[in-house]
Amino acid sequence: MSKPRKVIIIGSGPAGHTAGVYAARANLRPLLFEGVARGGIPGGQLMITNDVENYPGFPEKIAGPQLMQAFREQSERQGCEIVGEDVGKVDLSARPFRVWAGDDHVEHQAETLIIATGAQAKWLDIESEHALKGRGVSACAVCDGAFFRGQDVMVVGGGDTAMEEAMYLSGLCRSVTLVHRRESFRASKAMQSRVIDNPKIKPIYDSVVDEVLDVSKGEVTAARLKNIKTNERSVVPVTGLFVAIGHTPNTDLFAGQLELHSNGYIRTKPGTTATSVPGVFAAGDVQDFVYRQAVTAAGTGCMAALEAERWLGSNGAH
Ligand code: NDP
Repeated sequence: MSKPRKVIIIGSGPAGHTAGVYAARANLRPLLFEGVARGGIPGGQLMITNDVENYPGFPEKIAGPQLMQAFREQSERQGCEIVGEDVGKVDLSARPFRVWAGDDHVEHQAETLIIATGAQAKWLDIESEHALKGRGVSACAVCDGAFFRGQDVMVVGGGDTAMEEAMYLSGLCRSVTLVHRRESFRASKAMQSRVIDNPKIKPIYDSVVDEVLDVSKGEVTAARLKNIKTNERSVVPVTGLFVAIGHTPNTDLFAGQLELHSNGYIRTKPGTTATSVPGVFAAGDVQDFVYRQAVTAAGTGCMAALEAERWLGSNGAH
């Protein structure tokens, strides 16, 4: 087995590659696993985002995959070694940390580890929703809301994310129909009352989306709802449908080895990317259930690399 690396990065979204840029420039010769399990596409959630208009530095919109390709090229050019393999197992119980990757489960060792494995939006999992993703169906109002300025949209969900998405969209759109499967929201009382007091938001309770119309036209024209108490169906004309039923952080690999929040996200020391295990840092959506933006992910990726460098320095490994 080769010598332990100074830094191993797991994840290839904005957080992982920004950590790669900074770690490479600090001469730490980082190794980054970009992960191919989900459909064989590395690069995280931006890979399923059509146009990005809120990443600073791009006054014209940029396609999500194009932005990720630029992140990747930049970290590689700076000297980050990128491996197209999934990490299947880690052992954080002793240093150097051990990481097994690829189909052959090859063992790698690292003095510090930066976890940037991201999160995945949950979907309703109906055929028409999948068919219209990126064509009016979205899981991120901040990313895609501006495309629906002045239009009628729908948000699905009853938690804090759904309330936030509905509030955000109410500032842009003509109307927001908020559909929840039960008769009361799960969200905090403060968020609920802001939504209920907002004249542009119309809640519909006890209902689920049965079908998103119109797949044959390749765009969203309406949503068909089913009231789960009465089985009654209704059609609400909308041009955008925002699914806000939660995210799943990609933390399975670390369960039982790192402290997690009760919602499954990695717990970091406030204001830092330090996890409960010294020498292990977490950046991006895997530790962030509040902001979840590409730019904040990149920011915490930078923090993680700087913190890893300092940690190596003060632990005699740099
Ligand atoms: P939650 O898990 O809290 O809520 C998910 C919502 O989606 C629930 O109302 C749930 O319904 C509904 N839902 C789940 N699956 C389906 C489905 N298949 N069909 C229809 N509806 C479904 O997720 P959030 O993303 O809202 O929040 C995650 C965490 O992040 C929470 O701890 C939240 O407080 C936090 N957060 C904090 C924010 C802040 O502080 N500013 C902002 C956003 C999130 P049901 O209620 O019936 O289970």
